[in-house]
Amino acid sequence: MDYNAFPGPGRFYKGCLHTHSTRSDGKLTPGESLSLYRRLGYDFAALTDHNVMNRERFGMPDDFLVLPAMEFQTDYYEDSKRTKCHHFVVLPRGDGGFAHDERMENDAFTGPEDAQRTIDRLARGGNLVMLCHPVWSNTDFSDYGGLRGLFAMEVFNTSCQNKYSIGLSDSRWNDMLRAGARMWAAAVDDAHSVPHMGQGWICARARELSHAAIIESLENGWFYASTGPEIHEFFVEDGEAVVRCSPCRNVYLRSDRIGCGRQVVHSESGGMLPEARFKLAAGVRYVWAECVESEGRIAWSQPIWLEE
Ligand SMILES: [Zn+2]
Ligand SMILES: [Zn+2]
Repeated sequence: MDYNAFPGPGRFYKGCLHTHSTRSDGKLTPGESLSLYRRLGYDFAALTDHNVMNRERFGMPDDFLVLPAMEFQTDYYEDSKRTKCHHFVVLPRGDGGFAHDERMENDAFTGPEDAQRTIDRLARGGNLVMLCHPVWSNTDFSDYGGLRGLFAMEVFNTSCQNKYSIGLSDSRWNDMLRAGARMWAAAVDDAHSVPHMGQGWICARARELSHAAIIESLENGWFYASTGPEIHEFFVEDGEAVVRCSPCRNVYLRSDRIGCGRQVVHSESGGMLPEARFKLAAGVRYVWAECVESEGRIAWSQPIWLEE
């Protein structure tokens, strides 16, 4: 059977799913932050201030979409010190059960059952829920590996990378895929100030630039995550995975298997290849692609599940 990671109609829209403003602990006002993203070539952004829902457009022109959003926190305490946490980006499909400017207390987090209750409550209310920066959150597999109902995990977080060198979490995402979770990968800035803006984003294939169409794209995984490269196509045909992307040094195919991270030299000597092709081993459950530019910037495809 053949599979295509971007079956939806339309075009790609560049977006920011996680950033902060003076509505919580960010340095820029909402209008300054959104305007800067627009100047950086983004088509949409979600202002995800801590525990406070945003539904305003802050005067942005019609060519820029502001997704209703917030970042919701749960904290784990030992001896009255916070030792780990879960943060979730919350994206309402409709009203999501939250009014504009509604402020929330942190949920309790004493174990994975609490975190699952938080996700279930947010999802039942009509929200997409994404797990943020799991490395910075200091959680381990026993905390996040069994969580279900998340639409995505951050595989890259600019602020965590720039400040603490712990922004990359694609291996944790792959651990969850291998454990049976069905969820997508996102790259985000989580910016609290200008130096951390515009370095991690998603490109969502959607029929139009509207809240409903972008949510549809996010739910269905018709997007990719990136810190630089573009992924134009990712599909499986005749037992091969095919990746077409902007000029990259290497393209890797990742899966649930050991030894499946095969490398294809994509540009250097001999020029640019039009595509990377990987023969699929029998029994592989899912595959996803990682495209790496010569400067080291990365794009991550979503998984294609081969077993359904
Ligand atoms: Zn956070
Ligand atoms: Zn944040």
